[in-house]
Amino acid sequence: MNFKEKYQIKKQYLTNNTKRRSGQLISPKVKFIVAHDTGNAKSTAQNNVSYYERTNNEAYASAHIFVDDKDIIECIPAITSEKPEKAWHVRYNVSKDNELYGFEANDVAVGVEYCYGENINAYESYKRYVWIIAYICYKYNLNPNVSIVGHHLLDPGRKFDPASGLKHSGRTYEQLLKDIVSEYEECGDKELIQKKEKIQLVDSIISNQNNFMETFLNPASKKIYAVGNDGKKHWIFNEESFTAGKNMGLWKENLYEVKSQSDNSYEEGDVLIFVKV
Ligand SMILES: [Zn+2]
Repeated sequence: MNFKEKYQIKKQYLTNNTKRRSGQLISPKVKFIVAHDTGNAKSTAQNNVSYYERTNNEAYASAHIFVDDKDIIECIPAITSEKPEKAWHVRYNVSKDNELYGFEANDVAVGVEYCYGENINAYESYKRYVWIIAYICYKYNLNPNVSIVGHHLLDPGRKFDPASGLKHSGRTYEQLLKDIVSEYEECGDKELIQKKEKIQLVDSIISNQNNFMETFLNPASKKIYAVGNDGKKHWIFNEESFTAGKNMGLWKENLYEVKSQSDNSYEEGDVLIFVKV
């Protein structure tokens, strides 16, 4: 993914078809990240994942990734799989996730847990926590400035994480958000980051439409394309050469339908395509 591999991610998936891991896929796609802490001082990443596995049919409560000073362990597929699954880390009956992102957190968000306590080096744990969240943003083309939210903001008055846990590292929630943006810029490929910004722009326009299209970056050609509800791949246009002419018809505001068979002739550096689906 061209993201600097500072740390290893351990894949240790929970048993599937259990209360903690349903196997349901995140849908329609990963849209944001919820920052948590475990609320359980001294419990390491491995302790937490082992506990989840031991009690895998006891509760509908889980998270994707646990981070401490030694390990980053993914127990529900999120970044180590191309098919990220749902975890149960935010209550369904809170409304803030819908207000901010238009979706339930459990359906579209990756939940990342910060581990802390006297036996855990708070700074090392924090560095891994920042890195993995930045990496998730990068992998899923999320803007790190707006795609991370603390659990305390989604479930106010009831939850205080991750600010409560981060205190152990001397960091605030606000500092965390800034450090994630810096890490994203430091570890990501500069050229790809620029492309991803375009993808985010496309996504933000598409998300205002009724028709769902998912945008992708082809790692081989670094071209951006979208796949619509019709299952077809739509290449993204060069803005400069993009004029509504005889090959294109206006669909909705900012959106054009490509009608020509020569659509695939657009080359590297192409930017935007909006296709009716
Ligand atoms: Zn939480």
